[in-house]
Amino acid sequence: MLPMLIDGTRTRGEAAEAIDVLNPATEEVLAQVPAGGEHEVGWAVDAARRAFAVWRRTPATERAHLMHQAAARLREHHAELVRLLTQEEGKPIPESDEELAWTEDTLDYYAELGRHERGRVIPPGDPDQFNFVLKEPYGVVGCIVPWNYPLLLMIWKVAPALAAGNTVVIKPSVLTPLSTLRMAEVAFTALPPGVVNVVTGPGSRVGEALVRHPDVAVIACTGSLATGQRIASQAAPLMKKLHLELGGKDPMVIGPDIDLDLAVRALAYAGLINAGQVCTSTERVYVPRSRLAPFAEALTAFVKTLRLGNGLEATTDIGPMIRDSFRQTVERQVEEAIGQGARLLAGGRRPEGRGYFYPPTVLVDVHHGMRLMRQETFGPVLPLMAYDDFDEAIRLANDSPYGLGASLMSHDSCLVKRFFEEVHAGTIWINDPLTDNYAGPFGGMKMSGLGRELGQEGLDEFFQVKHVHWDMVGAPKPYWYPYGEGGS
Ligand code: NAD
Repeated sequence: MLPMLIDGTRTRGEAAEAIDVLNPATEEVLAQVPAGGEHEVGWAVDAARRAFAVWRRTPATERAHLMHQAAARLREHHAELVRLLTQEEGKPIPESDEELAWTEDTLDYYAELGRHERGRVIPPGDPDQFNFVLKEPYGVVGCIVPWNYPLLLMIWKVAPALAAGNTVVIKPSVLTPLSTLRMAEVAFTALPPGVVNVVTGPGSRVGEALVRHPDVAVIACTGSLATGQRIASQAAPLMKKLHLELGGKDPMVIGPDIDLDLAVRALAYAGLINAGQVCTSTERVYVPRSRLAPFAEALTAFVKTLRLGNGLEATTDIGPMIRDSFRQTVERQVEEAIGQGARLLAGGRRPEGRGYFYPPTVLVDVHHGMRLMRQETFGPVLPLMAYDDFDEAIRLANDSPYGLGASLMSHDSCLVKRFFEEVHAGTIWINDPLTDNYAGPFGGMKMSGLGRELGQEGLDEFFQVKHVHWDMVGAPKPYWYPYGEGGS
């Protein structure tokens, strides 16, 4: 059984039960991890609270040095971790390689940003006064992580939280805890004990215990809307700072001017990477009515060339879905849409054999009355819908409770300007969907969440702001009691 990391110790705590971690490509058990609970969370939070007293006072340059060391150790174990990530999550090796490289670089990025961000001096009300804004860490941050990018979405929280001077307790998903535990062992042990702790176990136990713990000052969670809502309701009585990255139903609008082959390749990437299990996957596609037939034909031909398989094999383009329950959600949405008049052009049927595979699927004749166009699908499905003019395309793109990302494929600058001004989404991609940037804030509008990750904004989430007003002379003021005597 792989141990957790609490207070610098590798331990299974008092967990009596173990959780099987499966390989979604083979359905075999890869390893077991402890099913932690309230006791382990209490221990980890206590360790993080004690470590915070020292870490917050550690010079930012020293913190940066230690974070760079953690990144360097991660790079030493890069190949091994990439393989483990593919085994537990299913994504092809090149995608795991990219996830890990980005994880390493995020640690370096925030190590540097944390060196020179402590606040600012502001104009005083009087020449003898000194006013400044201090940015201070909160304390212990609970980092609750989903399974689809277990390392990347974890480090998007942990790196800025540490750079700001907080300490953390990480709760990985029960579906993909192995790469996090191994990363903790090889990299986070470069940091003082208690600065980073990892507790494994179900969300209903470990996650909720973190949310309810009075010494956890911030909850940073990436997950589904339902989980975000549950966390918000549980955290409300404690007035905890929340940072929530939730679901999406991202649209892509194909412009009337764009080369169709380019759009096909961009859409296949945006909708199918990680088997469509990305919060910002393109899940709704709007195509000019006059171009829908040739576009659908070219897309169908292209997706039929993609190879489904075990992510460890070099020939694999698309790996398995994470579990059968997620595949069943996709199947239900697709079958229901077909029952409501959608036409299936590719995929739509699970292959025989082991592994939770689902093929790239293309549908036309869809509409917004279908669950497929309203609820998160989280699978490799590309539903195409016709639009008549750009007003309609924008209206359809905005017709969703979510507002995570949105893409446009067009070289027409008038359409581009209208799109980024009028579409309600936290990230707008023009001609290059799903490409993120360390310095570019990432997060959702509407029901897609609260707060931002990455960039300066991602660091600011983990600082609380204090305004200091310092009168250096300290003479009585004319506005003090008693009124009318000029304060003297
Ligand atoms: P999930 O909501 O089931 O779980 C996410 C994490 O929350 C897990 O660690 C889980 O154990 C924990 N959790 C569950 N219930 C909890 C509770 N009551 N209290 C505290 N913690 C709890 O999500 P998932 O299936 O792991 O991931 C897929 C979802 O995540 C999708 O909805 C996807 O859109 C979303 N997501 C969002 C982003 C983003 O940046 N906005 C990125 C990736 C994934």
